[in-house]
Amino acid sequence: MLSKLVSIDTTSTERKNFEKMADILVEESQRMNLTAEKRTDKRGIPHVLVSVPGAPKKAKKVIFVTHYDIVPAGEGWDFDPFKPFVRDGKLYGRGAADNKSNIVAALVAFHEVLEENLQLKVNPVLAVAGGEETGESEGFFKTLEGDLAVILDVGCESISIGASGSVRLVVKVFGQQAHSAYPYKGVNAIYEAVKVIEFIKRKAEEFEKTVLSKFPAPTHYERLPRRMSATMVSGGVAANIIPGECNITVDVRTIPEENAKEVAKEVGDMLEHFAKENKLNMMVEVKSFSNGWYTADEKVVNTVRKVAEEVVGKPLKVSVELGGTDGRYLIERMPVVQFGTLREDTNFHGINEFVYLTDLMIVKSFVKRLLATEL
Ligand SMILES: [Zn+2]
Repeated sequence: MLSKLVSIDTTSTERKNFEKMADILVEESQRMNLTAEKRTDKRGIPHVLVSVPGAPKKAKKVIFVTHYDIVPAGEGWDFDPFKPFVRDGKLYGRGAADNKSNIVAALVAFHEVLEENLQLKVNPVLAVAGGEETGESEGFFKTLEGDLAVILDVGCESISIGASGSVRLVVKVFGQQAHSAYPYKGVNAIYEAVKVIEFIKRKAEEFEKTVLSKFPAPTHYERLPRRMSATMVSGGVAANIIPGECNITVDVRTIPEENAKEVAKEVGDMLEHFAKENKLNMMVEVKSFSNGWYTADEKVVNTVRKVAEEVVGKPLKVSVELGGTDGRYLIERMPVVQFGTLREDTNFHGINEFVYLTDLMIVKSFVKRLLATEL
């Protein structure tokens, strides 16, 4: 089934084969005796909702969140991204990990529960969104109601219960434009910007050591830190002009415990203070900010963590994501936990994407066990 789904190109930016994929998901679900419906949103994007017939309607409603669209394959693959194949326990192709393997894991889990006549302790719904990678599924996610959301769109190195927030700023550094044959007549804005960039780099290193979440990241960081990077620089208008302006884009990733708006102000003030001290002509603009989040309900987190630990057979950390996830569209209405097949080395969004078939089995067993667990 995973090969079949991967072989259909559902590139998000083109809404490619969205209808076809939604229809196939409904068909596959019905073939497995599950109940499935297609729901098309105001933007015209079809999403699919799958449930288990005979599930206890009064039990806690658990929504498993996945998506069928994929990021563009891009260039440089060693094989056709839409001709999936299995080698050394891995299935290769665009969407193999992100996110089609998680759809298959959940569908098969639902199916096996039915086949084996297992007693359901929750009322499960599998939501398969379209347009997730372009952010267009936000409206659909905001219609979902339940008692717990399980986002199957991260890795299985830990149980993840939150995500980082973000702040974007643009720093405009001004100089004095002049003919480059007479550089002494101007002030080079690029040289001025270099001072600011070095300051940003220094401060970023400081944040990584001092602004720490109580939670670890799934990988790399023992405690998730606030991160900051200069991500874009633009300046100069012609080869023979001393540039009068240079713009620096700054991307900050906040920890879940902090308020992104306050961080935007803190970083903005910090940059302005630096400008004043160094007599730089500079302006800071906050472009956007969004808060990180985490699930505070420890009881539900512990229950889910135990289920995952039974499946992987070892203790798991409770972490928060380095990036953002769709949990932000659900956390205001219900606790959110995250688990899935997107292990760090699977090249999701990169070239030569693959999924470990053992992870596919882990996520299937995780879903299946969760369905038989009282919350
Ligand atoms: Zn994804």
